[in-house]
Amino acid sequence: AASREALLDRRDNAFATVQEHYFREPPQIERGWQNHLFDTEGRSYLDMVNNVSILGHGHPRLAAAIEEQWRLLNTNSRFHYRAVVQFSERLAALLPGQLDTVFLVNSGTEAVDLALRLAWANTGRRDIVAVREAYHGWSDATDAVSTSVADNPNALDSRPSWVHTVAAPNAYRGQYRGPDAYRYGEDAVASINKLAEAGHPAAAFLSESFYGNAGGMALPDGYLRAVYAAVRRAGGLCIDDEVQVGYGRLGNHFWGFEQQGVVPDIVTVAKAMGNGHPLGAVITTAAIAEGYRSQGYFFSSAGGSPVSCVAGTVVLDVLRDEQLQENARLVGDHLRTRLLELANRHPIIGAVHGMGLYVGVELVRDRSTLEPAPAETAAICERMRELGVIMQPTSDRLCVLKIKPPLGITIADADFFADALDRVLTEGW
Ligand code: PMP
Repeated sequence: AASREALLDRRDNAFATVQEHYFREPPQIERGWQNHLFDTEGRSYLDMVNNVSILGHGHPRLAAAIEEQWRLLNTNSRFHYRAVVQFSERLAALLPGQLDTVFLVNSGTEAVDLALRLAWANTGRRDIVAVREAYHGWSDATDAVSTSVADNPNALDSRPSWVHTVAAPNAYRGQYRGPDAYRYGEDAVASINKLAEAGHPAAAFLSESFYGNAGGMALPDGYLRAVYAAVRRAGGLCIDDEVQVGYGRLGNHFWGFEQQGVVPDIVTVAKAMGNGHPLGAVITTAAIAEGYRSQGYFFSSAGGSPVSCVAGTVVLDVLRDEQLQENARLVGDHLRTRLLELANRHPIIGAVHGMGLYVGVELVRDRSTLEPAPAETAAICERMRELGVIMQPTSDRLCVLKIKPPLGITIADADFFADALDRVLTEGW
């Protein structure tokens, strides 16, 4: 413990403290294997929050492929090499036919930033309509369209004038609930129409295809269909941020947009696609990609490097060979059944959101008022860590347990988690 604390002091001296870490007393993690993390004091933790490492930690196929490619060649994507072509083809093949052109970058922020630039360049317009309570990145442009107060308490103040926001389509809490949630779509359509009528038609509508920051809640049925139609009527583009949602996590679908029955014009991907190796992408139509030319050439030194492309290709191979999307569906269903059973006995559980292995457990002080329980959620996460589970609060109210484990977790892992949560909720925290 002394060496862990000494290292924390050194971190505070050498590393920007404005970047917070998980937990008041963070364990010093030194190794990961499959679905577990191991600290320097010999403890293991089930990793329930990692939305990056979808294959699990230390995957031997990924490690071997990265090492081999590193020895062979790693350089930038202005050179002509096989890996960038192979990976781009593999990625494009996962999307509907017209989305056949790939840009490779290093992160989700870069992907969304580039998507916005493509929308601006193609439409000659500036205004963007985005959904409130979302997070899309930390660059100037992506921060401007991120209004999650969990990430930035001042997020709703001083938006640039080109940013227009619509209500987060939360069917559990907010203005429209349950069967009335379709009205969020009507309101968003009205906002989009109003902008067009005022002579400022949107360059693009930007959203996730599943409501990520709420802790993993499906969008109301038909939401994106209605909104995309309105945006296109006004001559704008539809950007879908799949950075958190895509890549099989939802179980039933590889991409979130499939669940909404729409096809976006521009899709952004990152996190899972490199399983922790920095990698992001924008996938769009050839015509929209071509529209970038008015901005000059596109180039990113490490985006689309041979090592990144090989990492991305192996992630797709392992997803397929280990049937991880199917596992996300099966284990996710089991986990939600267990959590709903806990909700019958523990009134603090207001709702169990999500699908596949994108699950949110919303904690409330009162089920009739839905008063959020952020202090309780934080304390429960701390207590779960003591019991060997790593998880974190999410949502703008910080009252949702965010459950996004590697996609290979087992039924036994899900039971270990549910048993630990049952114990914490029974014994107190
Ligand atoms: N979009 C979404 C939906 C995200 O969740 C995130 C990261 N949390 C980003 C974009 C930004 O990705 P990155 O951290 O890789 O820059």
